[in-house]
Amino acid sequence: MTRIKALAPGATLGILGNGQLGRMTALAAARLGYRAHCFGPEADSPAAQVCARATVGDYRDEAALTAFFAACDAVTYEFENIPVEALTRVAKKARGKLRPSAAILSVCQDRIAEKTFLNAIGVATAPWRAVRSRADLEAGLAALGAPAILKTARMGYDGKGQRKIAKPADAARAHAELGGAIAVLEGFVDFEREISVIVARDLAGRARAYVPVENRHKHHILDETIAPARLPAAVARKAVATASKIARELDLVGVVAVEMFLSEGGEIRVNELAPRPHNSGHWTIDACAVSQFEQTVRAVMGLPLGDPARHSDAKMKNLIGREADAWAKIAADPKAILHLYGKAEARPGRKMGHVTRLGPRKGR
Ligand code: AMP
Repeated sequence: MTRIKALAPGATLGILGNGQLGRMTALAAARLGYRAHCFGPEADSPAAQVCARATVGDYRDEAALTAFFAACDAVTYEFENIPVEALTRVAKKARGKLRPSAAILSVCQDRIAEKTFLNAIGVATAPWRAVRSRADLEAGLAALGAPAILKTARMGYDGKGQRKIAKPADAARAHAELGGAIAVLEGFVDFEREISVIVARDLAGRARAYVPVENRHKHHILDETIAPARLPAAVARKAVATASKIARELDLVGVVAVEMFLSEGGEIRVNELAPRPHNSGHWTIDACAVSQFEQTVRAVMGLPLGDPARHSDAKMKNLIGREADAWAKIAADPKAILHLYGKAEARPGRKMGHVTRLGPRKGR
């Protein structure tokens, strides 16, 4: 068996990204005695507020990235829309310090690359076509039929960069509204519910999965996660097996969240991958001995993974925009576990915090 040398407490974990995922990863790192150092374009960010060090820099600035890598013992990322060119060159020189790898980031930040990868390893997705021109869009619609969804290949999140095409006559407008960007056209999946599975994988290739959870969206933004998802055991096993296969085939070190559509008949289609902690895993902080953030830290710093089993069932509710104004009321509720991200301005659609409520663990 490969012997892996873990980074000792006191080592520094670099986090590319400034958001709440970086913040919660840094808090988990601190609990294990590590220092966190974040890198991103904003000062006084949710991550910077809790990191021992924060570098304000541009992801395209190779010199700044090089200095950041030199100051860290291992580096991870908390969102996948990081420009990958400079990072790939810097990570190559820093042999193995970036976990998950830049190659995984490249696959997961481009819907065409991601779906090509998934289909190549035998994982079902929505039927799809790459759209690089109007002609591709017409041909794609002829093949997949309407309704369909046009999604930009890059930089999409929370429903941004997406247009539904209800009938073929809507195609030209949808394409124009997305600026004619390279995109994928997806056939509309008539799903019964949306679920996700988070898998962690360590340097030795051992993987541990959290139970599948159920996700409810409002205006394309995650609103609530129910853990565990209410599923027949065979479907839950299939979802975990699919996510574990993806982690293995990516040769992942870190965590990956796999978002899936579940049909009435129990058929699974993968929608999206996120090679980082995910909003649908926030419940693990309060309901599991080892959270998705600690698993990330453990994998990236070379520690063995912890136990992802839950001690409680959980419901996680995001606090979006002005919903966070109710913080005092939520804090006064003894059953509510409140998490706030330190964001000053509650813009509409902005994730300001979340609340977890626990219940007795039922079932496996
Ligand atoms: P995405 O940005 O790809 O995660 O999509 C955001 C949300 O849009 C998903 O969580 C679904 O609720 C919905 N959606 C995305 N793709 C499809 C599809 N092919 N068919 C039906 N609904 C979809």
